[in-house]
Amino acid sequence: MDTLENLYRQIIMDHYKNPRHKGLVDDPLYVTKHIKNPSCGDDITIQSLVREDIVEDVRHDGRGCSICCSSASVLASLMIGKTEHEAMTLTENYLNMITGKPFDQARDLEDALAYQGVTKFPARMKCATIAWQAFGATLNKKAGETDEQ
Ligand code: ZN
Repeated sequence: MDTLENLYRQIIMDHYKNPRHKGLVDDPLYVTKHIKNPSCGDDITIQSLVREDIVEDVRHDGRGCSICCSSASVLASLMIGKTEHEAMTLTENYLNMITGKPFDQARDLEDALAYQGVTKFPARMKCATIAWQAFGATLNKKAGETDEQ
Protein backbone atom coordinates (compact mmCIF):
# COMPACT_ATOMS: atom_id res chain seq x y z
CA MET A 1 0.00 0.00 0.00
CA ASP A 2 1.42 3.39 -0.83
CA THR A 3 1.35 6.25 1.64
CA LEU A 4 -1.58 8.06 0.09
CA GLU A 5 -3.68 4.91 0.02
CA ASN A 6 -2.76 4.31 3.64
CA LEU A 7 -3.79 7.85 4.57
CA TYR A 8 -7.10 7.42 2.77
CA ARG A 9 -7.71 4.17 4.62
CA GLN A 10 -7.04 5.92 7.93
CA ILE A 11 -9.53 8.68 7.10
CA ILE A 12 -12.21 6.11 6.28
CA MET A 13 -11.59 4.05 9.43
CA ASP A 14 -11.52 7.18 11.59
CA HIS A 15 -14.93 8.33 10.34
CA TYR A 16 -16.25 4.77 10.67
CA LYS A 17 -15.12 4.39 14.29
CA ASN A 18 -15.83 7.98 15.36
CA PRO A 19 -18.72 9.16 13.19
CA ARG A 20 -19.37 12.90 13.19
CA HIS A 21 -22.90 14.37 13.33
CA LYS A 22 -24.46 10.94 13.85
CA GLY A 23 -28.00 10.51 15.13
CA LEU A 24 -31.25 11.82 13.72
CA VAL A 25 -33.25 14.70 15.13
CA ASP A 26 -36.98 15.04 15.49
CA ASP A 27 -37.41 18.48 13.96
CA PRO A 28 -39.85 19.30 11.16
CA LEU A 29 -37.43 21.85 9.71
CA TYR A 30 -35.11 19.04 8.63
CA VAL A 31 -35.58 17.18 5.35
CA THR A 32 -35.17 13.42 5.65
CA LYS A 33 -34.19 10.85 3.02
CA HIS A 34 -33.77 7.12 3.59
CA ILE A 35 -31.93 4.82 1.14
CA LYS A 36 -31.13 1.12 1.28
CA ASN A 37 -28.51 -0.81 -0.62
CA PRO A 38 -29.71 -4.42 -0.66
CA SER A 39 -26.50 -5.73 -2.23
CA CYS A 40 -24.55 -5.08 0.97
CA GLY A 41 -27.13 -4.37 3.65
CA ASP A 42 -26.41 -0.66 3.89
CA ASP A 43 -29.36 1.25 5.27
CA ILE A 44 -28.85 4.96 5.74
CA THR A 45 -30.94 8.00 6.58
CA ILE A 46 -29.74 11.53 5.95
CA GLN A 47 -31.30 14.71 7.32
CA SER A 48 -30.42 18.21 6.24
CA LEU A 49 -31.37 21.61 7.55
CA VAL A 50 -31.04 24.42 5.03
CA ARG A 51 -31.88 27.96 6.10
CA GLU A 52 -31.39 31.15 4.12
CA ASP A 53 -29.47 29.17 1.49
CA ILE A 54 -26.98 27.78 4.03
CA VAL A 55 -26.63 24.12 5.00
CA GLU A 56 -26.87 24.61 8.74
CA ASP A 57 -26.85 20.98 9.76
CA VAL A 58 -26.57 17.46 8.35
CA ARG A 59 -27.40 14.36 10.41
CA HIS A 60 -27.08 10.70 9.51
CA ASP A 61 -27.92 7.35 10.99
CA GLY A 62 -28.10 3.77 9.87
CA ARG A 63 -26.27 0.53 9.50
CA GLY A 64 -23.85 -0.63 6.90
CA CYS A 65 -20.32 -1.34 5.86
CA SER A 66 -17.37 0.88 6.70
CA ILE A 67 -17.46 2.60 3.30
CA CYS A 68 -21.12 3.52 3.59
CA CYS A 69 -21.17 4.62 7.25
CA SER A 70 -17.92 6.55 7.09
CA SER A 71 -18.94 8.36 3.90
CA ALA A 72 -22.07 9.66 5.66
CA SER A 73 -19.86 11.11 8.41
CA VAL A 74 -17.48 12.68 5.87
CA LEU A 75 -20.45 14.09 3.98
CA ALA A 76 -21.93 15.73 7.08
CA SER A 77 -18.57 17.21 8.09
CA LEU A 78 -18.02 18.70 4.65
CA MET A 79 -21.50 20.08 4.00
CA ILE A 80 -22.23 22.00 7.18
CA GLY A 81 -21.67 25.68 6.51
CA LYS A 82 -21.77 25.42 2.71
CA THR A 83 -24.30 27.31 0.61
CA GLU A 84 -26.98 25.17 -0.98
CA HIS A 85 -25.41 25.74 -4.39
CA GLU A 86 -21.93 24.75 -3.14
CA ALA A 87 -23.42 21.66 -1.53
CA MET A 88 -25.09 20.60 -4.79
CA THR A 89 -21.92 21.19 -6.81
CA LEU A 90 -19.85 19.27 -4.28
CA THR A 91 -22.31 16.35 -4.31
CA GLU A 92 -22.21 16.21 -8.11
CA ASN A 93 -18.41 16.38 -8.09
CA TYR A 94 -18.15 13.55 -5.57
CA LEU A 95 -20.58 11.33 -7.48
CA ASN A 96 -18.58 11.97 -10.65
CA MET A 97 -15.39 10.95 -8.84
CA ILE A 98 -16.90 7.68 -7.58
CA THR A 99 -18.43 6.74 -10.92
CA GLY A 100 -15.17 7.39 -12.74
CA LYS A 101 -16.25 10.55 -14.55
CA PRO A 102 -14.11 13.69 -14.79
CA PHE A 103 -14.17 15.60 -11.50
CA ASP A 104 -12.47 18.58 -9.88
CA GLN A 105 -9.87 17.35 -7.33
CA ALA A 106 -9.42 20.80 -5.87
CA ARG A 107 -13.05 21.46 -5.22
CA ASP A 108 -13.69 21.13 -1.46
CA LEU A 109 -13.57 17.34 -1.51
CA GLU A 110 -11.00 17.17 1.33
CA ASP A 111 -11.57 13.89 3.24
CA ALA A 112 -13.99 12.72 0.55
CA LEU A 113 -10.97 12.21 -1.74
CA ALA A 114 -10.32 9.11 0.35
CA TYR A 115 -13.07 7.35 -1.60
CA GLN A 116 -11.39 7.74 -5.01
CA GLY A 117 -10.13 4.17 -4.84
CA VAL A 118 -13.72 2.87 -4.83
CA THR A 119 -13.80 3.47 -8.59
CA LYS A 120 -11.69 0.31 -8.89
CA PHE A 121 -14.34 -1.75 -7.08
CA PRO A 122 -17.64 -1.34 -8.92
CA ALA A 123 -19.44 -3.49 -6.33
CA ARG A 124 -18.63 -0.87 -3.66
CA MET A 125 -19.70 2.17 -5.67
CA LYS A 126 -23.21 2.02 -4.27
CA CYS A 127 -21.78 1.89 -0.72
CA ALA A 128 -19.81 5.07 -1.31
CA THR A 129 -22.64 6.95 -2.98
CA ILE A 130 -25.89 6.23 -1.12
CA ALA A 131 -25.32 8.78 1.65
CA TRP A 132 -24.47 11.42 -0.94
CA GLN A 133 -27.44 10.52 -3.12
CA ALA A 134 -29.71 10.73 -0.09
CA PHE A 135 -28.23 14.12 0.82
CA GLY A 136 -28.68 15.38 -2.75
CA ALA A 137 -32.31 14.28 -2.58
CA THR A 138 -32.88 16.23 0.65
CA LEU A 139 -31.71 19.41 -1.07
CA ASN A 140 -34.45 18.97 -3.64
CA LYS A 141 -37.22 18.54 -1.11
CA LYS A 142 -39.06 20.86 1.21
CA ALA A 143 -38.76 20.72 4.99
CA GLY A 144 -41.16 18.29 6.60
CA GLU A 145 -41.41 16.05 3.51
CA THR A 146 -40.36 12.53 4.29
CA ASP A 147 -40.44 9.49 2.12
CA GLU A 148 -39.50 5.90 2.57
CA GLN A 149 -37.72 3.83 0.00
ZN1 ZN B 1 -21.78 -1.19 1.74
